[in-house]
Amino acid sequence: MSDTVREVPNRIGGRRVPAASGAWLDDVGPATGEVIARIARSDARDVDAAVQAARAAQPAWAALSDEARARVLDRVADGLEARLDELAALESRDQGKPVSLAREVDIPRAIANFRFFAGAVRHQELPSHPMPGAVNLTQRSPVGVCGLVTPWNLPLYLLTWKAAPALAMGNAVVAKPSELTPLTADALVDVMEEAGLPPGVFNLVHGLGPEAGQALVEHPDVKAVSFTGGTVTGRRVAATAAPRFKKLSLELGGKNATVVFDDCDWEATLDGAVRAGFANQGEICLCGSRLLVQRSVHDRFVEAYAARVAALTVGDPADPATRVGALVSAAHRDKVEGYLRLAVDEGGTVRCGGTRPDLPGSLAGGSFLAPAVVSGLAPACRTATEEIFGPVVTVHPFDDEEEAIALANGVAYGLSASVWTRDLGRAHRVARALDVGMVWVNTWLLRDLRVPFGGVKDSGVGREGGRWSLEFFSETKNVCIAW
Ligand code: NAD
Repeated sequence: MSDTVREVPNRIGGRRVPAASGAWLDDVGPATGEVIARIARSDARDVDAAVQAARAAQPAWAALSDEARARVLDRVADGLEARLDELAALESRDQGKPVSLAREVDIPRAIANFRFFAGAVRHQELPSHPMPGAVNLTQRSPVGVCGLVTPWNLPLYLLTWKAAPALAMGNAVVAKPSELTPLTADALVDVMEEAGLPPGVFNLVHGLGPEAGQALVEHPDVKAVSFTGGTVTGRRVAATAAPRFKKLSLELGGKNATVVFDDCDWEATLDGAVRAGFANQGEICLCGSRLLVQRSVHDRFVEAYAARVAALTVGDPADPATRVGALVSAAHRDKVEGYLRLAVDEGGTVRCGGTRPDLPGSLAGGSFLAPAVVSGLAPACRTATEEIFGPVVTVHPFDDEEEAIALANGVAYGLSASVWTRDLGRAHRVARALDVGMVWVNTWLLRDLRVPFGGVKDSGVGREGGRWSLEFFSETKNVCIAW
């Protein structure tokens, strides 16, 4: 490691603060395997300092008008927009995703999150319920200090998806980003400071989940916890937060079905199913990692699908032409490769990919993996039902609607699905029968920030987006006034 590696401390109460322990964690760039920064390895002492700073700052922030807070959020959006290229490059370097994806999706959506929730709080309407001799007024107040814990796959995008509504509603925040991808969160604090967000309203604590994350969820003065991450971690977070009666939002894992009927628009479906399977190297909770194809077109579809997947070039995330970058870490690639070995043990055939590409220079140390398509697996086997969270799609035939629904619902997860058909009646029937929080028909990951986002079963509890986020980040009070 070179001596020039940047140290990234916590951001507490408007100051840059190293961890109380003095310890640092290496942040490794997945495209090269080299250390690109060192982050504060925080523990309960740092979390407590951040929570106290948030508590001190929150009342004055909450006392501002909705309009005044919205103006600060708009300035944060402007600041992110002014740094779009810089942030896209940073996210790509830290996460491994293609810079083109960060520039087209991650950073623009982070900007949109702030603009959207600035507008949402400006335009929020609260109900009143008149009754004989009285009127009920529904009011919303901030929860107080909110703890935000976020994963490594869409680092800035998912952090801002929580931070923007939390701040809009007058809360103060302590955020704990993934230790694997901490850098854009630090840049966000720079932008917030430039935008005039008062010190202490947004605090950032870096570190490991079982140390800093756990301390944040446990802290008695953190009144709401919004968590996005894996299901196993989510279960732990729920067990910690529930006896303390905290508000809790859990956005967890997925094993989402892409359901292809024989009457689909062939080209559009192939394009959509490839994107659903492999966008962001398959590291999106919504990725369609189980491709269910009607038997009458199964073999032809899978052949065309595998050919398109094999043509996806894996390469330097910093190259604007790259469409598939590096997996987030060497350990994660090992896990994905373990699933590919399991797939073969379970009787599957790897139709394409699954190998480490031969890349030049410093990229030889990166955690790259060619996107893989696996056929011939029983739909209930582990490879086809457990979340891999990488560039692996398993394909399975079905005969009719009933079987497609049974296969799609036959996993512990229930986040999302996409259905590809020209038959409108069938689209409605299947969408209704799917046990998931979100269904796309003839598209995938088409997002409108007003709509509810979240899953059922092991994919989580609660919804984010639009008024659901505003509700989560506030306490609702009824005032009944008699005349
Ligand atoms: P993870 O659960 O390992 O970590 C998520 C965050 O939780 C990290 O910041 C981590 O440090 C922290 N953490 C770990 N242990 C903790 C503890 N005991 N207490 C508090 N915090 C703790 O998940 P990951 O590997 O970073 O992300 C991948 C997972 O996230 C996948 O399962 C994916 O499906 C899921 N995900 C879900 C959504 C969604 O909206 N449903 C979106 C993106 C990712």
